[in-house]
Amino acid sequence: MEKYRGRFAPSPTGPLHFGSLVAAVGSYLEAKSRGGAWLLRMEDLDTPRAQPGAADAILRTLEACGMAWDGDIVYQSRRSVAYRAALAHLEAQGLVYACGCSRREIADSGLGPDGALIYPGTCRNGLAPGKQARAIRVCVDHERIDFEDLVQGNLNQDLAAEVGDFVLRRADGLYAYQLAVVVDDAEQKITDVVRGADLLDSTPRQIYLQRRLGLPAPRYLHLPAASNRADRRRAPRR
Ligand SMILES: [Zn+2]
Repeated sequence: MEKYRGRFAPSPTGPLHFGSLVAAVGSYLEAKSRGGAWLLRMEDLDTPRAQPGAADAILRTLEACGMAWDGDIVYQSRRSVAYRAALAHLEAQGLVYACGCSRREIADSGLGPDGALIYPGTCRNGLAPGKQARAIRVCVDHERIDFEDLVQGNLNQDLAAEVGDFVLRRADGLYAYQLAVVVDDAEQKITDVVRGADLLDSTPRQIYLQRRLGLPAPRYLHLPAASNRADRRRAPRR
């Protein structure tokens, strides 16, 4: 049997809040109980939102809780070469296109399960005259993505109906979370993803990208969302 490799992947946008700490403890205990490795990844891709010193503060918190990680920490901010290669791989399959829509232009679209707008595919067949390329999107289809979550049970999503073509590179030039997480889970040879249920709706998008990139799919376990009074005043993480 393959060796269990779990991970914890916080975003350094501030100190580790209660919900993230629960995800850390859950992924740590699951890895240790399986005799596996527990890796760490700093999801510091969203540089405008990263807070100076937050990454170090998170590491100190994990240490204070007695949770030691295995191997080197992966920093997403240093991995743009790998993300660019993955995007090129999708582009070679004719799966990506430039989108010139502003947030306002798609504001009347329906809402997906995570509250984000369902992209209506406006730029799929080329940019309208006078429009500038902003983001890069990946084409999705009505193939139903089924997966088994070890806590939440069997789930499925029709990406075309519920999400639409989604962003891989943002208008500000940063690679999107969905692409980075898939590339990094494969790079770190993660067999099991244990994380908060706030990311449950992202999982089908990630499985879709794994399939198109020829990457193995880890098992998924989404912990019920945990929050305290301080967390509830915060906006969702992404
Ligand atoms: Zn567009």
